[in-house]
Amino acid sequence: METIGIFGGTFNPIHNGHLALANSVLNTLHCAQIRLIPAAVPPHKETPAVTAEHRAAMVALAIQDQPQLVLDTCELARQGPSYTIDTLHLLRQRFPAQALCLIMGQDSYQKLPSWHRWQALLDACHLLVVHRADCDEQLSLHAAHAGRLIDIARAAHMFAQQTHGLISFLPNPPPDLSSTRIRAELQAQSPAITTALPPLVLRYIQQNHLYQ
Ligand code: ATP
Repeated sequence: METIGIFGGTFNPIHNGHLALANSVLNTLHCAQIRLIPAAVPPHKETPAVTAEHRAAMVALAIQDQPQLVLDTCELARQGPSYTIDTLHLLRQRFPAQALCLIMGQDSYQKLPSWHRWQALLDACHLLVVHRADCDEQLSLHAAHAGRLIDIARAAHMFAQQTHGLISFLPNPPPDLSSTRIRAELQAQSPAITTALPPLVLRYIQQNHLYQ
C-alpha cells in the first residue's frame, strides 16, 4: 500500500525547517507524496494577517521543483476553523485505500489534547512526530496513545501495512527555525533571513510587501 504524508501548518511563511522536515519524512517513510495543507483559519493561533491565499502561494513557490511535495488547498474552501480531523475525513474519501500519515513537529504533538476531536485522529491516519529543537529528546506519548508507538526503523514498512492507527517518532530535528522568529526578522530587515527562507519565497514576500 502507498503511504501519503499529510503536512498541515499555518506556513506563515513556509521556511527551510518545514522543507527539511518534509524531505526527511520522504526519505524515511518512502511516501508516494506529501501534501502540504495551509490552514485557512488556524484553530490555535490568531488569524494571520497574511491571507491564506498568500501563504498558499508561498508554499507553491517553495516546492515547485519537488514533484513529491504537493500543495493541497482544501482548507481554503471551508468556512470556520480549519480542523485537521475534517481534513482527514475529506482525504480519506479521496484516498480510500492508501495509508495516510499526519506529520507534525513535537511541539504540536505536545499540544494535541487541545485539538478538536484529537482522540479520533488515529482512526483516520498514522502519526509521525518529528523532533523539534528545544523539545525533549524522547517523545512523551499521551496515555490515549499507549501501545501505538513503533520504532522509526520499522515505520516505512509498518505504516504501509495498514491505513491508519500507528505512531512513530523521527528523532533528528530539522533546522531550528520558526515562522514567528522569521516574521520578527523580516520586520527588522535582518540579513540572517536569507538562509531561513527559499529564495523564491523571500522574493514573493518582498514583492508583495508582506510582514512589514
Ligand atoms: P510558529 O513559529 O508561528 O508557531 P511554525 O514555524 O511552528 O510557526 P507552522 O506552520 O505552525 O510553523 O508549523 C507546521 C508544523 O511544522 C507544526 O507541526 C510544527 O511543529 C512543524 N515545524 C515547523 N518548523 C519546525 C522545525 N523547525 N522543526 C520541527 N518541526 C517544525
